Amino acid sequence: MNDRQSLQDHLVETVQAFLKAANNDASEARKLLSGLAPVLRGRVLFDTLADVVSGDRHLHSLAANLHVIGPLSERGNEILVDTLSRIAKFLDRKSPFIIVNIGQDGKPARIIQEVAGISLIEFSPQDLSDPGTVAHELAHAFALSDHRALDEGFATYVEYLVATGSHDAACAELSRSAAEAPSLDSLLAHRWRDRPCFEGMPGSHALAGLLAGRLLERMGTSAFLQMISSVREAKVEDARPLIANSLGIPLHELSGLLASVATTGRHGTKIRPSPLQFHRIRTSFLLGQTDGLAAEMGPWREYVLANPDDDDAAVHAVMLALLARTVPDQAEEAARFPLEAVLDGLRRRLPHDPVIFALCLAWEGAKAQTSTSYLALRDCFARARAIAEAALDQFPRSCDVLVAVAKLELQTPVEYGGSRGRAANLLTRAAAVAPWPDVAAILAGTAERLASPLEIS
Ligand SMILES: [Zn+2]
Repeated sequence: MNDRQSLQDHLVETVQAFLKAANNDASEARKLLSGLAPVLRGRVLFDTLADVVSGDRHLHSLAANLHVIGPLSERGNEILVDTLSRIAKFLDRKSPFIIVNIGQDGKPARIIQEVAGISLIEFSPQDLSDPGTVAHELAHAFALSDHRALDEGFATYVEYLVATGSHDAACAELSRSAAEAPSLDSLLAHRWRDRPCFEGMPGSHALAGLLAGRLLERMGTSAFLQMISSVREAKVEDARPLIANSLGIPLHELSGLLASVATTGRHGTKIRPSPLQFHRIRTSFLLGQTDGLAAEMGPWREYVLANPDDDDAAVHAVMLALLARTVPDQAEEAARFPLEAVLDGLRRRLPHDPVIFALCLAWEGAKAQTSTSYLALRDCFARARAIAEAALDQFPRSCDVLVAVAKLELQTPVEYGGSRGRAANLLTRAAAVAPWPDVAAILAGTAERLASPLEIS
């Protein structure tokens, strides 16, 4: 291995050593800089480091992976450190190695990644007073694909995530800003190195941001970052095949997904479903009826994502998603609904609502249906049993809770403690407190059938 190759391999460490040396040992810094010359000469990074050695620029290390060159301000430093650590936490990733170069006001912020592993970010002093700009550029350092729809999308999503503090709120905000953007298909089909789709068009950034949020939600951070690096390595013009591949779906399904993200974006706040639809979902959920609910999931999902504060709608959308999961041709649409995240939010905001207990029970039951290992199954039933006991203690006269526990009894195999007799008893109690006579009659009928000896057909 020659010197150049070994320097390339240790570039990040060498630059790190340079920055340390430059802080208090100019002659050591000069030596390291001339060592870096064969690999870095002619690059912006090299010129920036040379400015430090010559004494033209001041250097400051804010953290192991975060160094600032240029005039400092206490507030600016604080925003940098705080924002970087928040992004790292959101993504559950270590911070990449970043050198911030503070230039003059008036120049737009930008990121330069000339060599793998080292990001040079140029900010003006004014940029550093704006956490949104800081979050956006720092986010680029975590994931660069050289594909503008993916890169701007990811950075814009993180910018909104840092501003709002949650995935759902970020997506709702992005939906509102995404109006009037070009189609996602056209944004993804080209790398847009010449930028015409993004320059001065905030709608494109927001729509691409919404897409990044949805992709992260569906594939998880690791697969998303892997997809970003595969797009970068393959230098593809059209990112769609690699995205579909990472999602594990055929290309034609991806365009359906893109269209649904774009619809959420274009229309912003959706129309709230009617009271009749609320009622239908509630009773269908109580009775486990799935007929007539086809095609409802899409509009509910869009409404709930665009209106994250509407708890009542979220409750009903979770009911619908739980029902739709059990219907083969709706399961896929149901899987697009972020059930777990929405339910977590509801649990936090409405910890004393019996309906939320009922939803959690149904969710545990649904997970049990799909779990393949004996241990996972036993865990599900144990968790569900604990929730059921707490719920019955607190809400002995809630129809939702009584029915949910009854369903759990029926779902739980006898060897795990399920009991038909207990289910019948719970349904009788539920029928007595059911708010609607037709529902009460069906519950009572089911209870009676369960109580009679098993008929074998
Ligand atoms: Zn950007």
